[in-house]
Amino acid sequence: QNVANQISAGEVVERPASIVKELIENSIDAGAKNIEVRVKEGGKKFIKVKDDGHGILPEDIKAAFNRYATSKIKDIDDLYSLYSLGFRGEALASIASVAEVEMLSRHKSKENGVKIRLKGGEVIENKPAASTIGTEVKVRDLFYNTPARYKYLKTTSTEFSHIIRIVNAEAVANNEISFKLYHNNKQLLSTPGNGKLKDCIYALYGEEIADNLLAIDIEDRYIKLSGYIARPEKTRAGRSHELFFANGRPIHNNLAAKAVENAYSKLIDPGRKPIVFLFIKINPILVDVNVHPTKKEVKFSRSQIIYDVISKGVRKTLKAADP
Ligand code: ADP
Ligand code: MG
Repeated sequence: QNVANQISAGEVVERPASIVKELIENSIDAGAKNIEVRVKEGGKKFIKVKDDGHGILPEDIKAAFNRYATSKIKDIDDLYSLYSLGFRGEALASIASVAEVEMLSRHKSKENGVKIRLKGGEVIENKPAASTIGTEVKVRDLFYNTPARYKYLKTTSTEFSHIIRIVNAEAVANNEISFKLYHNNKQLLSTPGNGKLKDCIYALYGEEIADNLLAIDIEDRYIKLSGYIARPEKTRAGRSHELFFANGRPIHNNLAAKAVENAYSKLIDPGRKPIVFLFIKINPILVDVNVHPTKKEVKFSRSQIIYDVISKGVRKTLKAADP
């Protein structure tokens, strides 16, 4: 067991939700139309992500678990720079070094699939197997070989709430893909994958929120805002209904969250947290690429301008609906 691999795995694999995120993003990159996520015990015992993407060739499956083996092009300057930052060829290698991993995949050009199993980063099985087109990854017993890290995991319900947040954000960001999430064999969510943001929000957050969405549409020199916000009808703890996306990718950004909360605080009962699905289109030059790619927090330069555009845009949208 390679200790260096285990240590750097910590940067990618912080908790079950980070595995779910990496696997979902691989499925998206593979052109999946349907992504199914199944977890047990908040993902601590078992995670499965299954897609109907293009799959992997039998001769490539082993290499997919090599560190820095990415089949994807890196181009920091393109519009999706945020996205390409995720392509580092590290996720599968990292996951395989801290858990037991099984991947079953059938490439779209093949009649048959292939199955590979790894434990402690070592391949213990690699053979042909029947499969539909696409890829399925199973991750068992996270951190079985690093008990100290296992101890850091939170309760099943806390770990699962992180997973829900990741799946919700990915489903909203990629609403042309249908997502399903199961916890302990119970289906918890299912999105239509029809490319309609509102339908996706309806499926995830329910009628009450979906029927009261206000479209936001603001364009400034530096950023363009789109998506929906809503007036909260009840008090909620935390930021569970505040989702932000930069150039199509889910992000955490404290500045944007504060800007929205500031706009809400002047118009809505204090304590009522915003409901916001905000898509920020921004020149990648203004996105700090030095932030570690697996860190969810993204930093913008020209932050005062961005804060003002968001805050004013949200306030204007709320006011217009309820003058
Ligand atoms: P990265 O996504 O940065 O390339 P990963 O470690 O996440 O690195 O994946 C390594 C490689 O394995 C990918 O570049 C891709 O070729 C292949 N791969 C992983 N997951 C899938 C999937 N669901 N479908 C098709 N190919 C996949
Ligand atoms: Mg990846």
